[in-house]
Amino acid sequence: MNILTFGPNGSGKGTQGAIIKEKYGIDHIESGAIFREHIKGGTELGKKAKAFIDRGDLVPDDITIPMVLETLGKSKEKGWLLDGFPRSLAQAEALDKALKEAGMKLDFVVEIVLDRQIAKERIMGRRLCANDNNHPNHIAFEAIKPVEKDGKLVCRVCGGALSTRADDQDEEAINKRHNIYYDDNTGTMAAVNYFKKNGGTKVISVDGSKNIKEVSELIIKELP
Ligand code: AMP
Repeated sequence: MNILTFGPNGSGKGTQGAIIKEKYGIDHIESGAIFREHIKGGTELGKKAKAFIDRGDLVPDDITIPMVLETLGKSKEKGWLLDGFPRSLAQAEALDKALKEAGMKLDFVVEIVLDRQIAKERIMGRRLCANDNNHPNHIAFEAIKPVEKDGKLVCRVCGGALSTRADDQDEEAINKRHNIYYDDNTGTMAAVNYFKKNGGTKVISVDGSKNIKEVSELIIKELP
């Protein structure tokens, strides 16, 4: 099964992705996380991408598109859930074309709908686990609150160290990312609408203001 997920930064898209990955045994591919791995590993791609990411700008398509398509190809057998890509109409068109060429079918599009202000507040409270990208932690949500150990907040799943993303604490960078997301002309909402209009793939739209369990139940009840 191949799934595309959409939702503004802060909508809980990553958390829901981790739940779906676990339930269906498919690969969870996050374009932002691939970039962060490259930056951590000091690769050429990471060096090129870093300045864009720190500012909250999109990394140019000539870097992003081949990187994501190569990763998808590796998960062809297992199936995948793609998160963070496409973020623009141009990326949606490139993905659609590449999937057809590779003989891969897109089975579902999941859209998490959330008000911009709520999304912003949520972003600022999230924490990243050093051990596993799929361990959601958030200081404002009881269900995924980090735990305290030796006076420090650590990952509630594995006790790993927690950090914040620089671009999550910078209001200007958050606003930029949301401007891109809510832009229905050429931005991410235009990509969502592209798949809605295309008609070939079922689009599951859910209310992201509900709690984590409610949102995952709404999504899973629409999946096979
Ligand atoms: P995310 O973890 O999804 O919030 O992504 C973090 C950052 O990585 C974004 O703000 C962009 O700078 C970059 N990025 C992630 N996905 C894409 C994409 N599909 N196209 C361009 N840049 C991206």
